[in-house]
Amino acid sequence: MEDDAAISRPPVFVVDLSPILAESVGGTFSLAPFEVEELIDGESFHGVGHLRIDRTNRGVRIVGVVDGRQVGACGRCLAATTAPLEAAIDEEALESNRAGEGALLIGKGNSIDIGRLALEALDLARHLVLSCTPPCPERCGLCGGEHPADACPERSLDPRLAGLASLLPHAGDEEAPIG
Ligand SMILES: [Zn+2]
Ligand SMILES: [Zn+2]
Repeated sequence: MEDDAAISRPPVFVVDLSPILAESVGGTFSLAPFEVEELIDGESFHGVGHLRIDRTNRGVRIVGVVDGRQVGACGRCLAATTAPLEAAIDEEALESNRAGEGALLIGKGNSIDIGRLALEALDLARHLVLSCTPPCPERCGLCGGEHPADACPERSLDPRLAGLASLLPHAGDEEAPIG
């Protein structure tokens, strides 16, 4: 069972496009909102798709947004954190006899995995580095504790470290080029 899952990704939310393909160019319908969820690289993605499908002269155009969230470890403190995600989708899927004209083709039985499209859109919109909201405390550069280096108890223990710390730029001071 686990082997199967590793070889081919299971369908997420497959939509039969036969009704819209039977319409003439300009025909359109709105999909009822649908949910998708997947683990990608140890982070969890969840979204709700709000999509419309339009008939084009070559196939269909899939347009809308996926509202979702990304749950993973904060890049600074490693605690689990959640960030909102919004991904726009605007893709044309071509009828299979149009192979070669585009990357996305309508599959067997006039179906297309709209859920997979939604997950790919979320993955493209993902935050590369997550951080806590509200921001987690800055880690001390001297001992790694949850306090600014200025307030570090270690600093007062060693006057040489205190001298060093006073030479460091204060938090917020950016080294800006002059002139
Ligand atoms: Zn954090
Ligand atoms: Zn400290």
